Amino acid sequence: MTSPLDPSTVVVHAGRPDRVPNAPVGDSPVFSSTYVAGGDRGYGRFGNDAWTALEATLGELESGRGLTFASGMAAVAAIVDLVPVGGRVVAPQHAYSGVLALLDQQAAAGRLEVDRVNVADTDEIVKAVDGADMLWIESPTNPAMEVADIPVAAAAARRAGATVVVDNTFATPLLQQPLKLGADVVMHSATKFIAGHSDVVLGAVITADDELWTAIELRRRSLGAIPGPMEAWLALRGLRTLALRLERAQSNAAFLAERLLQHPRVSRVRYPGLPDDPGHDRAAAQMSGFGAILSFELGGDAEGAQRVCESTALWVHATSLGGVESMLERRRRWPIEVPTIPDDLIRLAVGIEHPDDLWADLDQALETALST
Ligand SMILES: *Cc1c(COP(=O)(O)O)cnc(C)c1O
Repeated sequence: MTSPLDPSTVVVHAGRPDRVPNAPVGDSPVFSSTYVAGGDRGYGRFGNDAWTALEATLGELESGRGLTFASGMAAVAAIVDLVPVGGRVVAPQHAYSGVLALLDQQAAAGRLEVDRVNVADTDEIVKAVDGADMLWIESPTNPAMEVADIPVAAAAARRAGATVVVDNTFATPLLQQPLKLGADVVMHSATKFIAGHSDVVLGAVITADDELWTAIELRRRSLGAIPGPMEAWLALRGLRTLALRLERAQSNAAFLAERLLQHPRVSRVRYPGLPDDPGHDRAAAQMSGFGAILSFELGGDAEGAQRVCESTALWVHATSLGGVESMLERRRRWPIEVPTIPDDLIRLAVGIEHPDDLWADLDQALETALST
């Protein structure tokens, strides 16, 4: 399933219908809850052409087999359900808050145990995976932008018999392929960069292990968190331009990181693309780019940070990321955000606008919000 073509070509051409006379260039969504008997599809909860095309494309990009879900969290829930009752999950201290909340809920219900580690601390991971059932990695992490050493952590977890899962949402399948780095399962919130236009909620799982694929597919059937055909089709339509969108968004992010670093009111910038960032060398080794998300802090001024988010004209003050339009938010405005995330941390989800316009608006917002 590995392709000799560059991922930026694969993302355009994978998962298309066979090139026979009169064939469409791309699949259309099929709106049917059931299928005529005699085939392998059966019923709308078991399969759909729009999922198949998206899954084939994601599978080829990540070197495995794909499964799409109703949301990123539906994909997370299906994967976490693989952990045996009473099992133990090693999870990041900082990660997408919904994932950490789900693990905490399951731990509180006595369903499993959770150990939190700093994913940037490889020794801590290696110690914690001994006897664990699952290692959950997010890299770079939301919104602290820590980078895990995926090859070393994955190898240690596998030796210990734990299933290694990587939430690859921030990196996208173009910048990082965790299965090649030793992970068993990759998960995406396709809501973000994959769909790319802030108009779809969708999740995806990719694995090269047939047993794991079958176990996760069974959970999709039985837990029922299936994507709609229209959402899957929109996500694939968005995915076709991921390479272009990412190229622009990533260069915008690098430009903004440098600008923020020089701003007198900014106390810290977290972006693995900055040469002095603690995750820089690791990210350079395992990713083919540093992505389009960064965070910065304002020396403890949480109220100022909130005002900055409310003072932009171009940047959208909203949660989520990976759309063509740039967004920002103070993550701690959410009660479920981890308390060790600084109060004054603003996450930037950089889009594809002109970099000068993005900086002018952010600079203006910093000035307006902090000039009192
Ligand atoms: C958004 C997000 C999720 C959850 O995905 P949904 O599509 O919102 O359900 C999981 N992980 C990361 C890193 C995310 O950004």
